Amino acid sequence: MLSEFDLIKEYFKRPRAQNAVLGIGDDCALLAPTPGMQMAISSDMLVEGRHFFAGEDARRLGHKALAVNLSDLAAMGAKPVAFTLALALPEAQRDWLAAFSEGLFALADEHGCELIGGDTTKGPLNICITVFGELAPGRALRRDAARDGDDIWISGTLGDARLALAGYRLECTLGADQQRAAAQRMHLPTPRVQLGLALAGIAHAAIDISDGLVGDLGHILERSGMGATLDVDALPAGPVLATRDTAQRRAFTAAGGDDYELCFTAPAAARDAVLAAAASSGTAVTRVGRIEAAPGLRLTDGQGAALDLSLSSFDHFTDPA
Ligand code: ADP
Ligand code: MG
Repeated sequence: MLSEFDLIKEYFKRPRAQNAVLGIGDDCALLAPTPGMQMAISSDMLVEGRHFFAGEDARRLGHKALAVNLSDLAAMGAKPVAFTLALALPEAQRDWLAAFSEGLFALADEHGCELIGGDTTKGPLNICITVFGELAPGRALRRDAARDGDDIWISGTLGDARLALAGYRLECTLGADQQRAAAQRMHLPTPRVQLGLALAGIAHAAIDISDGLVGDLGHILERSGMGATLDVDALPAGPVLATRDTAQRRAFTAAGGDDYELCFTAPAAARDAVLAAAASSGTAVTRVGRIEAAPGLRLTDGQGAALDLSLSSFDHFTDPA
């Protein structure tokens, strides 16, 4: 039998702390923030049956649990430093723990983000991570910072994760290859950390798209006291979704969810700087609309005609599981 302490030592404790003054093993970890920098802190929880299906691959879960948190740092323009992991597990299974920690640390190491502590308990599978990042004062990409006339940009592509979910739920029929390719986006999201860092000081507002673009952009509009026009046909569809019909492509790019791309705004004068930031971070970006003083979000097709998609964003308390 694996005890709680053996489990932590075997699967989560690394040889020595890199970023922290003191890492796993005491009552608290100790972090020494870089002088003059601000800390960006965020938590995200993954609950079995809610955010992922029972029996989900442990390696992918380790990746996704950290990826969704790093995505929040990216959306703020912060550099990842450290994270904590609170884990409830039905049982301490070695192969599950080995695969989970492998997926977790592969992504953590890619971003130099160090596990500094956490909590482990028996219970229904539940993974809660808190990330700590750093940014220079005044450079955070805040939701309340969009300005009249800003361009609206999207990183990467949208909708394939939602398409995979539609396939799993039999809302539509996907070929096995399509299902597999779309599911990659659902299970292994790529947090746009480098892009977020490159945009700090260039972009105004940013958010990561987790609940669907329309809803998440709505948060920027609300907090900034602005409206917007969004060209739905300009939204970059994921490679699988791009092969589907127009109605599904529009619905899933505009309000898919689980994309973990960045939606950000920047002044039109900064277009070249935005493209340079995208190039330097190896991330495609697409201009998809404009911030306007008139409140509300107006959706248009590629010709500029009004579109009524009656979309809604995902809400855990009002939507069915
Ligand atoms: P305490 O009882 O003082 O809260 P714990 O026994 O829960 O401490 O944890 C012992 C040490 O292991 C602490 O440093 C804690 O941060 C760390 N820890 C516990 N669970 C995890 C985990 N899942 N991942 C990383 N560190 C963990
Ligand atoms: Mg304690």
